[in-house]
Amino acid sequence: MAQEEYTPSTLEDFVVNNSVFVLFHEVGHLLIGELGIPILGKEEDAADNLAALLLIAAETVETDQVLIDSADGWFLSDAANTAETFEDAEFYDVHSLDVQRAFQVVCLMVGADTEVFGEIADNVGLDIDRQESCITDFGQTSQSWNAVLEPFLAPEGHSTEIYISYDPTENYVGVQELLRSEEILELTAHFVLQDFALPRPVTLRVAECGEPNAFYDPDPGEIIFCYELADHFAGLYAFAETLDG
Ligand SMILES: [Zn+2]
Repeated sequence: MAQEEYTPSTLEDFVVNNSVFVLFHEVGHLLIGELGIPILGKEEDAADNLAALLLIAAETVETDQVLIDSADGWFLSDAANTAETFEDAEFYDVHSLDVQRAFQVVCLMVGADTEVFGEIADNVGLDIDRQESCITDFGQTSQSWNAVLEPFLAPEGHSTEIYISYDPTENYVGVQELLRSEEILELTAHFVLQDFALPRPVTLRVAECGEPNAFYDPDPGEIIFCYELADHFAGLYAFAETLDG
């Protein structure tokens, strides 16, 4: 596709786009858990890679913007952690560092399509030699995921039952309204999950959890996206505006 210009996201788009990436990431955990997919390396990295690959493959302006906003989200999250020195960073965390997650998404983007994403990679400072090796990374990552997922693609007529719930909330009514009106759970179900023959019904839920997070819970087979996390993304957007100003 020919992608010329990206306009900066509004607050709402930024929140929704970062939330969508997280949901796709959790779908990665869910597929790994429900389908028993072997993972060589960090599962968190594998889940990030799958989310990025699904979005890259869609090749729409909207999905490209999800990728860009998600990478921005991690760069901002990294910048917001200014209280921490490099030595204090959580190198032992199950996730790679925020800045590494940001660069990995951009690496896969530019590895998939230099023409569309080259300028973005330049802008975030992804070294040109690395941009070239990202082409190999993208090919290997996408072949690997395709190979492990192929046997589980839903045959004609198969439909996995996917339950959806935007749980009641007192503290995040505005966030709930936004996520529901943008149908982020329906999008996740239709865009990704229904392509796979899952062995049992699964649930996608947005709920108040007491922390800005998202989870795949293998028992009972559900993804929980916390209202607090969407609220956290709104905070990052506000933080970005203080940087611009
Ligand atoms: Zn994860």
